[in-house]
Parts: sequence; structure tokens; C-alpha cells
Amino acid sequence: MPALPRIKQQLSTLIALPSISSTLDEYDLSNQAVIEQIANWCETLGFNVDIQCVDAKRKKFNLLATLGSGPGGLILSGHTDTVPCNEARWNSDPFTLTEKDNRLYGLGSCDMKGFFALALAAVSSVNKNQLKAPIFILATSDEETSMQGARALATLGLPKARAAVIGEPTGLKPIHMHKGIMMESVRITGQSGHSSNPDLGNNAMDAMHSVISELMNYRDELKNKHSHAGFSVPTPTLNLGCIHGGDNPNRICGQCELHFDLRFIPGMNMSTLRKGIEQRLEKVALLTKTQIERVSLFDGVEAFASEENSELVKLAEKLSGHGAEAVAFATEAPFFTAQNIDTIVMGAGSIDQAHQPDEYMALDQIDPMIGYLKKMIHHYCI
Ligand SMILES: [Zn+2]
Repeated sequence: MPALPRIKQQLSTLIALPSISSTLDEYDLSNQAVIEQIANWCETLGFNVDIQCVDAKRKKFNLLATLGSGPGGLILSGHTDTVPCNEARWNSDPFTLTEKDNRLYGLGSCDMKGFFALALAAVSSVNKNQLKAPIFILATSDEETSMQGARALATLGLPKARAAVIGEPTGLKPIHMHKGIMMESVRITGQSGHSSNPDLGNNAMDAMHSVISELMNYRDELKNKHSHAGFSVPTPTLNLGCIHGGDNPNRICGQCELHFDLRFIPGMNMSTLRKGIEQRLEKVALLTKTQIERVSLFDGVEAFASEENSELVKLAEKLSGHGAEAVAFATEAPFFTAQNIDTIVMGAGSIDQAHQPDEYMALDQIDPMIGYLKKMIHHYCI
């Protein structure tokens, strides 16, 4: 394992550079140091590097590194941010790579700073002069929160590669599908007043009752219309998550707000779903004479599905000996498939350890993953 000492050293460097992203300002950090470090290693390997500013105020950046030229090629992509961590619940320092029991512990070890070290190891074995199509390394910001990095890359235009591997921890199994996710809020404004006479106001909670009925009907409708046996929960789901409204039992409720999420399967999309929700809300607003507003709590992520039996899916299945599967978490993959890039999610480490104290990368997954990446590079670029 000649590459391993360097991989450990690189991973230790990346883990020592905190790059937490959070929707709460007090936890949110810049990812600049991680981006610059990866860019530096890429340059050493001969890549052209392009660091793109995603958010100047929050100091968030993406990296697009290119080795070789011409059409086609392969993208190796990952996110540079991690989730926040509770240091008290860790058995080692989350920002110090710690090797124990054939595992490399650290925040981001598998999700997913480790992938960059593996991708660089695979690339460094390639003879640059043999490249017939480019290898791209993409590193994004804010995947754990808004996916703003991937969104920015998609707007600027991703490289027109033939295929992309997103190295999220999947235990070395190829992933070809996940559900999309939306989180929405419904805000109802009625009119408060003394409860002794309902005519003195207009009850927002009464209107919310109708909204909830409509949403539950819509949920049934979606469930009856759409399903995919590849998912452990084969149908779309809509969860009523929290509700806030009113202030007193003897006061007509003037305002009420509901938050829900909707997880949908490939073939469905956010704009159609939002329209479906809005039509139902308009109906209730008219009947109840209230003001009803739908607000997205975040931009949402589309569902992801590779083409059935795509070239990359078949290659990854052959290399890994695993049939492609679906997962229950969202990734940046839909931004790649939207640009007709054949995409899978596949990487070392397990999602069970991601977002947990004592996150680790198992040492015995490192060599196989580098081997798969090398063969993919050969397939697409040499
Ligand atoms: Zn991740």
C-alpha cells in the first residue's frame, strides 16, 4: 500500500481544517482553507485549478480542477463542508485524524474529505501523456445545508463530462437513485377577536384544518399515482412536521403556520408539486376568506435517478460486484443528471457513521475504492 501514508497525511491535513456548514450563523464556517489545500495538491499533479467564489460574505468557494483536455471525460466530485459536531460526545478530537482498530477517525473522514485523498491517489497513478479525455475534480461548498455550491456550479455550467462519481460514503456500493426533498411552510393570516362572537374575527386555525385535510388528500393522491419498488418506502411521503398558531383559548386565532416535508420519487419534480400544493391552498383561501402563503423553507433537492443500465452504472456494478441501489439521503447528483452527465454516488465509508460522533473511514475500504476509481479513469479518459 504505497499510497496509504500519503492518504493518511492528506486526510489528517483536511480534517484539521474545520469547514462546518450550518444554517445557524454561529456554527457556520468558511471552507476556503480546504478548497485551497485541495487546489494545491491538484496543481502538484498537473491540474489547472479554478477556485470559484460562491458566497463572498461567508467565504464559501468551489473548486474545479481539470487535468487533460478535449470532450468527454470523468468528474470526481465531493463536498468540502461537514456537519457541526458535539466534541463532548467524541472519544477523540474530531479535528485530529486518529487511527485505531483499522479505522481513521475524524470529522469528515468518510463524509467526505476522505474521498479527495482517494481520488488524488487514483489520479496520481495515471500517466498524463496517455489521457485522451479530461479528469475533473470538483469540490463544493454547503452541501450539508443549502447545496449552494452545487447550485452555483450548475448555473455556471458543469464541465461537459461523460460521467460523474460523487464519492459520498456508500460502503463501496454504487447508488443510482434517491428521492427528492422539499420543506415547505404554509402561513395563514385570519383576523383575531374575542371568542364570544365568531363574527368578530376569522379563525386561521379553522382554515388550517382545511389546509391539512387538503394536504392529506394530496398525499393520498400522490401515493396512489406514484411508486418505485427500488425504494424501501416505495411511495412519496408528506410529513406534517410542526404547527404554531394562536395564543389564547378565548381569542380567535389570527395566525397559524404549518411546516411539512415532501419526499418524492424520480419522475416527479418540485415545480409541479409546488403548483399542486398552491392550487389546493388557493381553494381554501377563497372558501375561508383568509390569506394563505406558501414559502419554501429551503430550495429543495430534485430526485435522482441514473438512466436504467447506464454505462457508468454497469461499469460500477461490474467493478464492485454490487447491484446499484437506492438510498434514503439526498446528494448533489441531480445537479449532474440535469446536465445529462451519467452519474452515480459511490464511495468508501458508511453513511451510518456520517453525521455521528466518532465518524470514521475503515482502512480496508480505501484500496478497493482507489482501484475502482483507477479503472473508471481508464474507461473514460485513457
Ligand atoms: Zn456527504
